Formats: sequence, C-alpha cells, structure tokens
Amino acid sequence: MANPTIVLLPGDGVGPEVTREAAACLARVAPDARLVEHAIGGHALDTTGESLPATTLDACMEADAVFLGAVGNPRYDSAPESTRPELGLLALRQALGAWANLRPIRVHPALEDCSPLRPERIRGADVMIVRELLGGIYFGEPRSLSSDDGERHALDTMTYTEGQIRRVADLAFRIAQKRRKRLLSVDKANVLACSRLWRAVVSEVAEGYPEVTCEHGLVDSCTLRILTDAPDLDVLLCGNLFGDILSDEAGALCGSLGMLPSASIGDRPGGLFEPVHGSAPDLAGSGKANPVGAILSAAMLLHHGLDRPEAAHQLERAVDATVADGIMTADVGGSATTAQFGDAVRARLEPNSPIDGSDD
Ligand code: NAD
Repeated sequence: MANPTIVLLPGDGVGPEVTREAAACLARVAPDARLVEHAIGGHALDTTGESLPATTLDACMEADAVFLGAVGNPRYDSAPESTRPELGLLALRQALGAWANLRPIRVHPALEDCSPLRPERIRGADVMIVRELLGGIYFGEPRSLSSDDGERHALDTMTYTEGQIRRVADLAFRIAQKRRKRLLSVDKANVLACSRLWRAVVSEVAEGYPEVTCEHGLVDSCTLRILTDAPDLDVLLCGNLFGDILSDEAGALCGSLGMLPSASIGDRPGGLFEPVHGSAPDLAGSGKANPVGAILSAAMLLHHGLDRPEAAHQLERAVDATVADGIMTADVGGSATTAQFGDAVRARLEPNSPIDGSDD
C-alpha cells in the first residue's frame, strides 16, 4: 500500500510527548505516509465537549491505521460517567471493530536489572498477551451507579458470547503456531460463568491446533506465574479485564510500563496502535516519559496495519540498539529525555530506510 493515511491521536498527559517521537520515527521509515492529527480524550472534551468528536471518528474510519498516545485527565475523574476521557477510546475501539489487543512483552538484556524481579526470574522472557478487547465487563450492559434509600450501589455486567471468544482464541492459536507453540488461557472458571464458557470454547478451538500445547489457568495463579516463571510463558490468552490487569503486571518484567507497545486489530484492515501505558499525569510535561512503548507501537502499526515488516524490523532494531548502548529514560535507570531517546533511535535507523513505501 503506497501513500497510506495514518491518523495520530496524541490525547492527554504524556500522550502528545510520546506520539511526537513515534510520529517522527514513522516519518523516517515510511516517508510516503500522510500523518494527520485529531483530538481525543480529555483534550477533545476541553475543545469540543466530546471525548470522541465526529471529525475524529470519521478520520479514523477512513484511515489506513490509527495511532493513539494516551487518554485520561485527573480533572475529569469526578465527572459524570458520560464525560470521561476514557469513553472516547472505548468507543473508538468498538467503532473500529478492534476485538483483539496484542501486547508483546520482551525483556531487553540491558534492562534486566531495572525490573523489581531478580534477573534470573525474567531472563529471556518473551510473552505475547492476546487480550479480548470488545467484550466482558468493560462493555456489558446494564451498568449503573445509583442510590436508593441512602444506600449507594453499583452494577456492572460481565458477558461473553461464544463467537467473541472463538474469534480471539483462534487468533491467539495462530499466533502461538508461529512462536513457541504454547498457549496459556487465563480465566476464573472456578467462580465465573463467563469463564466456564471461555474455557469450553478455547478447548474446542484448541482441537484445530494439535501442534499447540494448550493449558488453562486461573487468573490468580497466572498472576503469580508471570512473576515467577515468565521465561516459560509464550502466548497468554485473556478476556478483557484479566488481560488489562496482567499486561500491566507484566510491565514489571521490562522495568517500566513505558516500555510496552500494543496493537488492536479485528474486523477491518489497519487497526489501532497505542502504548500500553496511560496518560501518566505525574510525568506530563516533564520530558521524562519513556517513548519506547509508543515507538514500538509504531513498529506494530507498520507490521500489522500497513504490512511493512521490513520497516517495522528496522524500527525495532533501532530501539534495541539504543537501549543496548545504554541510552534510556529515567524510569529504566537512564537520564535521556523523551526527545533525546527519540533522536537516538532515529540516529540508529539504517541509512537505506525504505523511502518509497514499497517494501510491502
Ligand atoms: P499510567 O499508565 O498513566 O501510569 C502508571 C505509572 O506508570 C505511573 O507511575 C506513570 O508515571 C508510569 N508511566 C506510565 N507511562 C509511562 C511512560 N511512558 N514512561 C515512564 N513512566 C510511565 O496509569 P494510571 O496512573 O493508572 O492512569 C493515568 C490516567 O491514564 C488515568 O486517567 C487512566 O484512566 C488513563 N489510562 C489510559 C490508558 C490509555 O489511554 N490506553 C491506559 C491506562 C490508563
């Protein structure tokens, strides 16, 4: 695909800072791409009163791929349910039909000492978390927060259909086939009906992939396995809620949440690519945000969104080389600013980076 359009949604907090670095990398390795910026989240609420303005949604629906920085602003923490910055992102994922979120977690040898876990516990860890993204308790209806007779109560609904589970399980098995052929499906089947359906459907899908070893684990014990046996894990298949939590926990393996990229893909070509971290209001404006998760999300965009694997690998190699050279942001023990790290990555891009967008 030549001259693709990529919509950039910088969002809130550190979102614009890490998006700037990711976009500059994309401009280097995919110079034919048209990068167009739009508002989302708290920034969009401030300027338009909506967390996902129609102009942003339309642009995303027409784009070849979408890149998002982060959404979330503490100023909206006590705002009514309908005016929360995060709603814009949930609505966008739904509109794009992005039902699977891929979260690769790889421990860089130079960063083993940055993890709170002992190096021998994490050495060589290379895990792919496949998270279902459009079902479960984040989307279930009814939901409410109300008050009767002076007693407040809240209701959320966890719901999954067989089809929602089957499509993400099938994708996870196909990914496992290309990796070390081991899949651990995470659930809470000893308590939740949704998890019992999840386990049954995943077992059925597993029959179609006899070369992949499929194991089922309860989320509580899987939480511990990430901390104690990460190098043994290959693909983790999770529902929406458990995948959200476990992938943040797995950030500890890499030393910082700022290291983790993600790709949200599904019904449509393209997809939504975003670092795993949030808007980190504590870091916003300080120049200290780690842009690795964002830059590696840009690499995932090149790979999954634009089908340009060579450009994606160039970017990944440049990030690896930068970290190997000891250039890091403060969250992983370095002193580089967000912009200095981005400059260092771009300085390590091979001079013959694709310039015509024709490596696909
Ligand atoms: P967070 O991910 O923003 O921050 C958690 C911790 O990680 C903080 O200590 C932060 O300083 C650190 N961190 C995050 N990104 C970093 C980076 N790039 N470099 C270095 N350190 C980094 O999570 P939170 O504090 O729970 O949430 C803050 C806001 O972000 C909330 O409004 C939340 O709703 C929102 N959020 C958005 C997304 C998203 O946009 N996809 C995801 C999670 C949270």
